[in-house]
Formats: sequence, structure tokens, C-alpha cells
Amino acid sequence: MLDATHDPARRSWVESAQGHADFPIQNLPLGLFTPPGGHAPRAGVAIGNAIWELEEAPADGTLNAWLAAGEGPRRALRARLMEELTAGSPAQSRLAPRLHQADACRMHVPARIGDYTDFYVGIHHATAVGKLFRPDNPLLPNYKHVPIGYHGRASSIIASGTPFRRPRGQLPRAGGPVFGPCEKLDYELELGIWIGPGNAQGAPIPLEEAGRHIAGFCLLNDWSARDIQAWEYQPLGPFLGKSFATSISPWIVTPEALAPFRTAPLPRPEGDPAPLPYLTDATDQAQGGFDIALEAWLLTPGLAAQGLPPHRIADSNARHMYWTVAQMVAHHSSNGCNLNPGDLLGSGTISGPERDGYASLLEATQGGAQPMHLASGEERRFLEDGDEVILRAQARRAGFVSIGFGECRGRVLAAV
Ligand code: MN
Repeated sequence: MLDATHDPARRSWVESAQGHADFPIQNLPLGLFTPPGGHAPRAGVAIGNAIWELEEAPADGTLNAWLAAGEGPRRALRARLMEELTAGSPAQSRLAPRLHQADACRMHVPARIGDYTDFYVGIHHATAVGKLFRPDNPLLPNYKHVPIGYHGRASSIIASGTPFRRPRGQLPRAGGPVFGPCEKLDYELELGIWIGPGNAQGAPIPLEEAGRHIAGFCLLNDWSARDIQAWEYQPLGPFLGKSFATSISPWIVTPEALAPFRTAPLPRPEGDPAPLPYLTDATDQAQGGFDIALEAWLLTPGLAAQGLPPHRIADSNARHMYWTVAQMVAHHSSNGCNLNPGDLLGSGTISGPERDGYASLLEATQGGAQPMHLASGEERRFLEDGDEVILRAQARRAGFVSIGFGECRGRVLAAV
């Protein structure tokens, strides 16, 4: 639903918001931050290079209550913030002390995440990874019927900018496993989905109502230890190969801000099965997708030492999701499982169909067989200590102001 908050002519009195790649006044994502010298986290909205602090203190030091409140209060807050931040607003002189310089503030994981589920809806990723193991039959037969996912670990989700240690674990060897630092550390470029209002246990969310349960979006990097994962994943799926760290961008980009960038999901290839009725809805088929450019960049110690910029390692788009976010929510709750405010869903790696869109190193280097060459003279098969991966997103559409998500950045520290 488009309204006056999407007006491309609207300008903010915060000068840096004009033409800002991520946070023009049309975006207004919410986050949890601590200003310099501050103690308890505060709620704020990103505007240009600044953070506008909300008057309301976050209950319990988290944004869970705001997530739980749902669409009505979220729209009301967006309208109020839009008014306060629009050029000419009397709030400018009255409330200017509430404006903080963003790069001086510390961002936090914005909510207490009760449960985290990671899906596998990036069909090009599923196909490319499947090909490494099964060249003739890359996609398993269930893929086009059921949105595949697994339950991830909420405790190790970290905000952008927080470094993490290379995991240690069982690594497969010809003579039997050894225990040591992961040798095939990888990243995964994903979209994160914040759950808003939940559902009672035993009361599934119908597909046509799924949108009411989604409060926002972020970028998500599902760091993956491919060697640990390969050895442990059968028969119960990912475990310690994934649970050591997951990075997210700290700003919750709302469905309202993303409204102009909704689109029809890409048509299913000829001959694909139609989804079962509980996963079929005309509105979702008309506008359940998002046109969001997704990128991953790699900054190695060698590039940094030579003053070279990060190297782009993936150029993809959220349109390459085989299942929509609404289908993910409907399917997740279809057995009666209750979702709660502050739960986080990952889309799964969203790779594009071509090589430059491969959104994990597993795909881009063909399991390490074809190293990536960098301007620093370095090469990479998998991530090395000191490497930093930066995810970025941009939603664009002619006639509207582009918005972004802010960075999801994470650096690998040496194993303990
Ligand atoms: Mn993943």
C-alpha cells in the first residue's frame, strides 16, 4: 500500500538524508543503539548519517514490544517520525538533541530472539550446491513442494560489526575425523525476516494473513563451516557447522518502507508442480516478491594493507527466492508451531543464476577448486583469519527513492 510516506519529493531537515544510499527519509528503519557515554540501549531510527532517538524507551531494553504491536502502531510511528523529520518540522529545533551521529553509536541486535529458523529458498544456491554433490540430480524431489528449513541457533546471532572466532570442530579426513580449526569457513548472503505478532500454538497462520505477522527485514550472514557441516549433516541437518555465529544488519526495515519494491515472484519454470493450496494465494503470487539488489563484498587484510577497496564477491537479488516470505511463514506455522514476536527467519542463501551471483564461496570457488583472485595478489578458496565480509542491499524502482538496509559486516578472528 503506497501513501504520502513514499513521496519521492519529501525531504528531511537532516541534510545527510538527501540522496543517502540506505537511509533517506522514505526508509526510517528502527534499531537499538547506545550513544557515546550511554548505558542502556535506546530505540532509534536511521536517518542519513544520523540516528534519531525515539522518545519512548524500549521496554525490557529490546524492540520486542514494538515488533509484537503489529501493523497499526508501526504505521502510526512511521507517520509521526516522517512528520518530525520532514524539512520545516517544528520538531527540528525542539528535539535536535535527540539526533546522534550514527558512526559514534554502537548498534545492537534489536530484539530478544526466541527462535531462529533458516530456510533454503534460494533455488540457484540449492541447485549449485546440489550439483557439487549430485551432478545429474541437484535438487532433491521435495524442493519444489515444501519450503525447506532447519532450526538454527538464536544465542549466537550477533550485530553487524561484531567479530567472531573461527570455529573448531570435527573435520573429515580419510583416516577418520580430527578436531581442529575449521579449514573451510564460508559466508551466506541471506535476507532476514523479523516476526511481529505471533500465533497461538495449534493455530496455523493462513497464507493470506502471513503479511500481518512480518514486522521487518534485515540482512543476514549465515557463517558456515563447510568441513564441519559436510561431516555432521547426515541424517539430521546442520548443527555445529552453523551455530557458532550468525551476523545481522541491525536496522529493521519495515514492510511499509519496502512497499514500493514489492513485485510478483519470478514465475516457476515450466513443468514445476503447483504449490499445495495452503501455499497458494493470488495476492501473494501478484506481489509476494521483493526487488532488492543484494551484494556481498570481501575485505582481506591484504586489500586493507594496500589501501585497496573491498572486492565484490556476489551480485544477486531477492527475486531469486523460489518461495515467498509469506509462504515461509505459512509453512512454518502450518503444523501448529507457534511463532513469537522477535523470532527471526533466514531466507537461505540467495544466489543469482550466473557465476557473479553465487552468494557463498562454496559455489563461487566450486568447493575451493577454483580460487578467487584479488587485486592484492591474494587468492581465496574459503575465508581466512582477518577477512571481513560486508553484505549490502538496495531496493530500487523508477519513480521512487531507493532505500537500503545498512551494512551487515563481520570479521573472522583466529580460532582459540
Ligand atoms: Mn543458510
